[in-house]
Amino acid sequence: MATAKFRVAICGGGIGGLTLAVALSRYPDIRVDVYEAAAQFKEIGAGVMMWQRTWEILKLLGLGKEFGDIAHASPDSSPGVGFDYRKSDQPEEGFRFYLFQVPYGCIRFHRAQFLDVLVDHLPAGVAHFGRRLTFYNTAQTTSQTSGRRDSEITLYFADGATATCDLLVGCDGIKSVIRKKMLEDLVNKHGGSPTLLEHIEPIWSGTIAYRGLIPVSRLKTGGKEHRTIQTPMMHVVSYGISRGSIVNVVAMASQPHLYGTTYDGPWVRDCDRDELLQCFTGWEPEVEEMLQCIEKPTKWALYELKPLPVYVQGRIALLGDAGAGAGQAIEDAFILAEILGHPSTTLSTLSQTLSAYEAVRLPMANHILKGSRESGTMYEFNGPYGDDFARLGPQIGKQWDWVWMTTPQEEREKALQLAQAKTDLGARL
Ligand SMILES: Cc1cc2nc3c(=O)[nH]c(=O)nc-3n(C[C@H](O)[C@H](O)[C@H](O)COP(=O)(O)OP(=O)(O)OC[C@H]3O[C@@H](n4cnc5c(N)ncnc54)[C@H](O)[C@@H]3O)c2cc1C
Repeated sequence: MATAKFRVAICGGGIGGLTLAVALSRYPDIRVDVYEAAAQFKEIGAGVMMWQRTWEILKLLGLGKEFGDIAHASPDSSPGVGFDYRKSDQPEEGFRFYLFQVPYGCIRFHRAQFLDVLVDHLPAGVAHFGRRLTFYNTAQTTSQTSGRRDSEITLYFADGATATCDLLVGCDGIKSVIRKKMLEDLVNKHGGSPTLLEHIEPIWSGTIAYRGLIPVSRLKTGGKEHRTIQTPMMHVVSYGISRGSIVNVVAMASQPHLYGTTYDGPWVRDCDRDELLQCFTGWEPEVEEMLQCIEKPTKWALYELKPLPVYVQGRIALLGDAGAGAGQAIEDAFILAEILGHPSTTLSTLSQTLSAYEAVRLPMANHILKGSRESGTMYEFNGPYGDDFARLGPQIGKQWDWVWMTTPQEEREKALQLAQAKTDLGARL
């Protein structure tokens, strides 16, 4: 390896952390270490859907062929169905109230296969397993050669091991210990408002998601194909993955009045098919038929964060669920890697670079957080348009504008320009 210009520690090897590691591996002058709490990288057996903007990133990372091979079908830029929005919660046949179409439609993957592609592209020696971060601190050190004072970050792990780095990126998911420490430091050491602490604990949304996978053969009975084999459906979310061989189902049971209350039980657990079927009794026949085919459902309490006030503090940055979906995590990772890898970014300009990352990505993370919540309520007819379908459909369409009205490439340019401007300003002061 060339002499490293700085050392990046990535805490958490989920989709966000591994995308960042793979994106950074294109720059031989950056040292990367991934610290993962588990004994191996793993994702659950379920689906994940993405849009054109995330697909462009995967291609820019040189992974188009590999991801194309594991998508639901080869990604194709002609208009495809994003979602077929339906009203399904009545015993008689439901109806479509809005068809959302975009170039590529939604591109769908099996989560474990998605992670495997990233793992396959991780350089040797980067991954450290069984390293659950419990704490970090930042110490000022003076460089023997330049005399410059630098901030080195020391990482402390549950097994007693320690490590050091110049930049720590929190990719440790929605329960992020890094987000917690960052916010506590802002309050306790930097005089920040105690209200910052309200952004530490995830909030239960009042929704339970029942998830399951169905081999497609089970959805072809009596010479009839279930429509979700070809089309991503919404009211009960369902779509094909793995070259069309499996259908992924996410059935949401929401009680909006319970938003913010304490959920009594583990975040994720196995459940009986009977519980799932009982929950959706009285829904249209095609939903009931589909749910009958799920052999081993799991039950997820869905949590969210309050929109975040910070994404960066000093040389610590948040990414993905530690901050805001998987597509979001991949965009964060791409933009952060591009600006860190830029030749003008050095150890001494890291703070300016990170502050440019925050300026560009924090508004986007918060926009997506807020948008996901609003969309969720609209999909279940609990939003301001209720079940006024003539108005609801177009409004749902508008909610998707951000997917194509901006591109991650434009955000990368914005972040690079901002980092440059901040560095120039820093040099003049
Ligand atoms: C029901 C459901 C459906 C979803 N569907 C979609 C979808 O269709 N499209 C989409 O874009 N997003 C979807 N999402 C959101 C998406 O799953 C997440 O946004 C994404 O997985 C976040 O990735 P991440 O890498 O930031 O975090 P995570 O996947 O949570 O990874 C965090 C990693 O950090 C490790 N870790 C945690 N703490 C520590 C520690 N202290 N030290 C070291 N390692 C640690 C964990 O072991 C894990 O490997 C869905 C989420 C849910 C719940």
